[in-house]
Amino acid sequence: MSGSCFTGDMSFDLLIKGGTLIDPAQDLNGPFDVAVKRNRVAAIDRDIPAESAMRVIDAAGQIVTPGLVDLHTHVYYGATFWGIQADPVAARSGVTTWLDVGSSGAFNVIGFRDYIVRPSRSRIFALLNISSIGLTAMTYELSNLAYCDVDLCCALIDLNRDFILGVKARIDSNTVGAHGIEPLRRARQAAERASLPMMVHIGLAGPSIREVLALMRPGDILTHCFTGQTMRIIDTSGKLLDDARRAWDNGIIMDIGHGAGSFSFETAEALVSNGRTPDVISTDIHQMSVHGPLFDMPTCLSKFLALGMPLEAVIRASTARPAEVMGLAGEVGTLRPGAYADIALFKLLDGDYTFYDVFMNARTGKHLLCNTLTVLGGQPMARLPDGPTMPWIELTEGQRALVARGHTPGAKGCC
Ligand SMILES: [Zn+2]
Repeated sequence: MSGSCFTGDMSFDLLIKGGTLIDPAQDLNGPFDVAVKRNRVAAIDRDIPAESAMRVIDAAGQIVTPGLVDLHTHVYYGATFWGIQADPVAARSGVTTWLDVGSSGAFNVIGFRDYIVRPSRSRIFALLNISSIGLTAMTYELSNLAYCDVDLCCALIDLNRDFILGVKARIDSNTVGAHGIEPLRRARQAAERASLPMMVHIGLAGPSIREVLALMRPGDILTHCFTGQTMRIIDTSGKLLDDARRAWDNGIIMDIGHGAGSFSFETAEALVSNGRTPDVISTDIHQMSVHGPLFDMPTCLSKFLALGMPLEAVIRASTARPAEVMGLAGEVGTLRPGAYADIALFKLLDGDYTFYDVFMNARTGKHLLCNTLTVLGGQPMARLPDGPTMPWIELTEGQRALVARGHTPGAKGCC
């Protein structure tokens, strides 16, 4: 523990007191107070006196975690099909670090930087789409190879290395059109030339999961890893494919990316019974999935509690592990003294909760994580209404049924 000296002269700006801290990066799970000075964590200790801080937040009965790190999001609001506003969701979900994966490509990443990354309070990073038009539209971004320009992709990465952390490609039958695996070959070249990882989205074959895995390297991320679509990583009997097992064991990161079409309880249960849980739990939150059954990160994490993952493992997969994957370990995803004071408070509610996958298959769970406060860089975030739903978004029948049952973004039976 960091030994702090308490002189009674208000050493700290903020103190989160009396909660149960779960910080897997430090192997901490127990009653610890968290003290903040300016925008960084200053001390973690069993009992830090209330008099030592200007402001004290009582966390009794609550779980305190590092601000959550979401490895798969879409926050290029106003310029792309999928983008939502990050800050309102951050304030109500505990997600303080956001990786936007491929919303921007070479032609629109400068706008992403100037109009989204810099003005937002949330910490936003990006993977650059190998398609220079990014996710301006719903799909087809890789079906014109003229948009898959490796030189241009690398040039824009080099101009923006402060927030671009890798390359993104969506590989499914719609996005690639007639070009099969060629767009992924180009993403591979760009990632190698930039010495950065690449994230590959899978869905409906087109290219097969085997062709995709063959082009991936340790440190790359397979997102939608628990998909129920035809590129899934299990065979029809529910066994993990040999190629996927080898890739996983060799260091490819398996990331959930729940989204609107990419999380299946059947696949998840098959993998859990193979002894496999995801490396990273991320949301793929966007204009569609924010309306359920994804809703937000705490709901997504609660589904993994329902699948039998321990709470500490679920928090690790949404803090320490994604921070590591992004190369930000020690700065975010932990409350180690010196890290950014990004902190999330949760109630762990007990009851009977129904959770749905993207096919509206239901499972019940006994716990629901519910965010009560998000602190970003030492400052509590004010709750704001979510940004507007775009005119081109039409809720599915399943989503409308959820709304009729009172499940709305941010109010899934929550605090
Ligand atoms: Zn996505």
